[in-house]
Amino acid sequence: MVKPLSPTEIRLSFVNASQGEAERIPLPGLHEALWEEREYLGWRDPQSRQRGYLVYWKGDTPVGLVLRASDSALRSGIPAMCSLCRISQPSDQVTLFSAPRAGQAGRDGNTIGTYICDDLSCSHLIRILPPRSDMQPPPEEILAGRTEGLVARVDSFASDVMRTV
Ligand SMILES: [Zn+2]
Repeated sequence: MVKPLSPTEIRLSFVNASQGEAERIPLPGLHEALWEEREYLGWRDPQSRQRGYLVYWKGDTPVGLVLRASDSALRSGIPAMCSLCRISQPSDQVTLFSAPRAGQAGRDGNTIGTYICDDLSCSHLIRILPPRSDMQPPPEEILAGRTEGLVARVDSFASDVMRTV
């Protein structure tokens, strides 16, 4: 779960966008956000479908990433896996996003790409749990493991974006 984010916190959180860009980002309906069921806040830009945004709490600091979806679709019919939540899904629900690196590297066109759930809703996906059974750990344990993994991978991806070489 994440602490609620205010619109100001979100706008100031973007590490790989200029201030002007950050001010133009359309924010999602925050009153509808289920904070207790989110590891990060993710949304696609309704005005520019190529763009997506991801904001999470790195300790006490909100960190936001601007992402751009690639045009090339994955081969359909094969299962694909989001690199953040690691849940397998039909390939048309996983998209290659690239994030400009923070700072000068990003302004020079340097990006980092990774496959992420097309609608940036990993938090929703990891909560679809198998029914309780003797064959596997209890659902709450599965969810705890998925949550931990998702948070760690979001943090690692964001750290890569922020790393200045
Ligand atoms: Zn995902």
